[in-house]
Amino acid sequence: MATHTAAAAIGSGVVTHWIDGQAWNGPVERWGDVFDPATGAVRSRVAFAGAAEVDAAVTAAARAAAAWGHSSLAARSRVMFAFRDIVERHRQDLAALLTAEHGKVLSDALGEVTRGLEVVEFACGLPQLLKGEFSENVSTEVDSYSMRQPLGVVAGITPFNFPAMVPMWMFPLAIACGNAFVLKPSEKDPSAAVFCARLLAEAGLPAGVFNVVHGDRAAVDAILAHPGIAAVSFVGSTPVARHVYETGTRAGKRVQALGGAKNHMVVLPDADFELAADAAVSAGYGSSGQRCMAISVVVAVGDAGDRLVPRVRERVRRLKVGAGTDPAAEMGPVVTGDHRARVAGYVDRGEAAGAELVEDGRGLTVPGHEGGFFIGPCLFDRVTPDMEIYRDEIFGPVLGIVRVASYQEALALVNDSPYANGVAIFTNDGGAARRFQHEVQVGMVGINVPIPVPMAYYSFGGWKQSLFGDAHVHGREGIQFYTRGKVVTARWPDPQHRGVSLGFPQMR
Ligand code: NAD
Repeated sequence: MATHTAAAAIGSGVVTHWIDGQAWNGPVERWGDVFDPATGAVRSRVAFAGAAEVDAAVTAAARAAAAWGHSSLAARSRVMFAFRDIVERHRQDLAALLTAEHGKVLSDALGEVTRGLEVVEFACGLPQLLKGEFSENVSTEVDSYSMRQPLGVVAGITPFNFPAMVPMWMFPLAIACGNAFVLKPSEKDPSAAVFCARLLAEAGLPAGVFNVVHGDRAAVDAILAHPGIAAVSFVGSTPVARHVYETGTRAGKRVQALGGAKNHMVVLPDADFELAADAAVSAGYGSSGQRCMAISVVVAVGDAGDRLVPRVRERVRRLKVGAGTDPAAEMGPVVTGDHRARVAGYVDRGEAAGAELVEDGRGLTVPGHEGGFFIGPCLFDRVTPDMEIYRDEIFGPVLGIVRVASYQEALALVNDSPYANGVAIFTNDGGAARRFQHEVQVGMVGINVPIPVPMAYYSFGGWKQSLFGDAHVHGREGIQFYTRGKVVTARWPDPQHRGVSLGFPQMR
């Protein structure tokens, strides 16, 4: 259907809010530019919301939530099944939008859609997941049972690096649990959110249950201040995650705020070095290093560095960098010109600090795309923990290798990091891997798996400054987050149980 094509979603070069089942046609006071990272050109303008637009979205959501929260589990799961089928049919369109605004290569964008769909599939099973507990005869002729009910209106604030998947970590579960949702996607690649809104409407979701407001800090702060929003899910960088968590909880909201990362890959001397080199390059440079689960540090134990560096270097040299639409390209540009400059600045300072720059991608140009935000893969050896390139999240195609003498040293390095999103160990020693999974203080652990992103039926989240709040996203923790518990104790009176008693009730 023409109205659901990717082209229609970004329309005439204007991306606007989606409120109460339709595109916003009210006034817009501020606009932002959305770039095509492969060319550097502005491809559209996106409306920026303030308190008024957020309030319009919350008002519509609150009205819709009142009915949606009472709808049957069958009705809700039917919408999820329909949405799943519609996204499946439009996966190429959705992936094309991701490539157009984020820059990632099309195969990677399709992978993102698949990982988002997994959560929709999980949400289709909501009737099973929302089952409560029942205890018959907790006292004589008294039964007790528990249920989980929706919160009302909940919001999601998401980063640029997964414009489809990260919102899909949130809204399918929130909606299936009976809430209405207000999404504030990244202003850098906002169209996927609006496209999902159109597909949800086509799936039969009532108007107002899913709303999109675009913008920057002003929109985020309006969400955090709005008394009609009960809970906020956030994914983004650590400083903003902390701000969202502190501001949102101070306003009495339930908040889960997932932050930045600096993911280590420990390689023990007994590892399969071909496998480890493949993994380091795939996880270091995939999506141009702009994944929260990207490997940015390889920790080579003992003589592992000598064996690993030439293998990684050989693979890096063969990587094909190009526009995301080029089927031969394995790595695309980074998201904006500012971000490219930031990444290049880190490479400059890493070199100045004495790390050995084995591969330098700073000079790369892609023929026909000279204005694009490209930076080629950069590889540093002999990085040390005091260096800025070790400490900071660069979020670009820059991989650093740290050499350490022992397993204990590698473990201490990982556990000293303020970030604790993902980590991997490469070894053929089951005992060492088992010890590592127990001792490492990180939320998601891979054993010979470089990007251990949990499936939708497990929960995703880090520790320390990679997560503010208690709940990880999706899986059981997602359902807990978007619902609250209620326990009923029931007696159907009969004449034997009459009479006043001021004693504390005891089950007999
Ligand atoms: P970001 O923190 O700049 O932006 C995230 C969201 O917050 C966006 O919607 C943005 O508009 C908004 N925002 C930005 N600055 C703000 C401010 N000062 N006040 C209020 N809101 C603000 O993150 P990004 O650059 O879009 O995404 C990359 C970051 O996200 C990386 O740090 C990456 O590690 C992290 N990330 C983490 C996970 C995870 O699961 N832990 C997943 C994906 C991305």
